[in-house]
Amino acid sequence: MSRPAFRMLLDFDGTLVEPNVAIELVSEFVPDGKRIAREVDDLLHSGRISLREAWSRQVALLDPHRLDEMARWSVEHTPLRAGATELVTLLRRHAIPTTVVSGGLDFYIHPILRRHGFDLPVRSDRLEVNDGSFALLHPYGHPTCRLCGICKAAIAQPAPDEPLRSVFAGDGSTDRYAAEVADIVFARRRLRQYCDAAAIPYFPFEEFGPVTEKIAAWLEDREPLPPRRRLGVATSACPISQGWAARSGP
Ligand SMILES: [Mg+2]
Ligand SMILES: [Zn+2]
Repeated sequence: MSRPAFRMLLDFDGTLVEPNVAIELVSEFVPDGKRIAREVDDLLHSGRISLREAWSRQVALLDPHRLDEMARWSVEHTPLRAGATELVTLLRRHAIPTTVVSGGLDFYIHPILRRHGFDLPVRSDRLEVNDGSFALLHPYGHPTCRLCGICKAAIAQPAPDEPLRSVFAGDGSTDRYAAEVADIVFARRRLRQYCDAAAIPYFPFEEFGPVTEKIAAWLEDREPLPPRRRLGVATSACPISQGWAARSGP
């Protein structure tokens, strides 16, 4: 087997799995949660609050004593996106380094992945219970960015001497920071709109079938892997992704 030419980064909520689990949890476990979750999501999407702010508002409403219950509920109520198993199987068969990169929370991501037999590294925010109350941690945050929880830009940004291209698949507004710097982007929903507006090239998807087909074509040399993307235009609000995009330009 030849050496992999790219690494794969998969968003979790709304990408690898169908729903946004955080929104589902607030809707299910908080009185009037549906309205509150939608409100926070709208504020986040329209850029009026940061992801950190959105999380702290939502986490404040959840009951720390029900963490295990919420994790079990998530496992039962979170379907994979159609074609996810085939995609992950293909990536594993070709030894493509694959990482789940999520602005969501570890306490539901890990059990959901386990349930489906996915043994994938995860970079996400973390929820801990200390003395009966929640502590929301951003272990993959950027030290100087107050906007993002996890810094998807830092993870998607190829290092100057990195031989692997970075391929990112996502759906949400906070995925724009990864899409701005990744070499190759698969996009659905809000990320697709953002890529259109920002002139970021992407492959659209809904189910994973076309993603798997495209990646198989690259791996089997039926189609050339797209070249490293030339950046230089920064359009997002995240100072980290802006900086990377502008610096990597022609
Ligand atoms: Mg998402
Ligand atoms: Zn940021």
